Amino acid sequence: MYLKSIEVQGFKSFANKILFEFHNGITGIVGPNGSGKSNVADAVRWVLGEQRIRQLRGASMQDVIFSGTETRKPQGFAYVAITLDNSDHQLAIDYDQVTVARRIYRSGESEYLINGSACRLKDINELFYDTGIGKEGYSIIGQGQIDKILSGKPEDRRELFDEAAGIVKFKRRKAIAQKKLEDEKQNLVRVNDILSELEKQVGPLAKQSETENISV
Ligand code: ATP
Repeated sequence: MYLKSIEVQGFKSFANKILFEFHNGITGIVGPNGSGKSNVADAVRWVLGEQRIRQLRGASMQDVIFSGTETRKPQGFAYVAITLDNSDHQLAIDYDQVTVARRIYRSGESEYLINGSACRLKDINELFYDTGIGKEGYSIIGQGQIDKILSGKPEDRRELFDEAAGIVKFKRRKAIAQKKLEDEKQNLVRVNDILSELEKQVGPLAKQSETENISV
């Protein structure tokens, strides 16, 4: 699996539609300070479902939309799509090529797509679990992040190792199963409460029914 292309339109400094094409190998992006190199990495992080705006160096999610310059009007939406070669089927989906896209409008309305079909953020997260590619993955290491990893808390570093070891999806499934179990336990407590209330009423009702039978 490898990244084939990134398409951006209206995302941060990229007002126009731009297609970055990559080939199997190493690609370097060079340019002067402030020309938008980190914005390319932000675009990938964003399309993979990043919700923490600080990770994208903004104040609100709408800040990812091209805000205009002296000579250009702001854009109404931001769109990013990444296409991955999946001929080795590392992603558990029946396609040799997978395109994941995200769009956000100024109104705040947003959508995610996998190969052109609308999907939930959850579907994107699940697609990339344990591949190292997700927004929590180790495939996007931003400026200063190596330092953060080395000097970070052991629990934070543990997350990276879990992802590399391929056990994140099992941990998530365990957490979901535990939550369901907890909800069911609560339901059982409620059912038992109702049952004991009803049991209290059985005696008086039986007596009442006997009295009514006698008087009839
Ligand atoms: P450096 O080499 O200094 O790290 P860089 O090439 O990585 O720089 P970025 O940080 O990717 O540059 O890009 C910063 C530029 O993106 C700034 O000029 C900023 O004005 C522009 N920019 C960020 N968000 C938006 C936006 N929403 N609309 C327009 N331009 C934006």
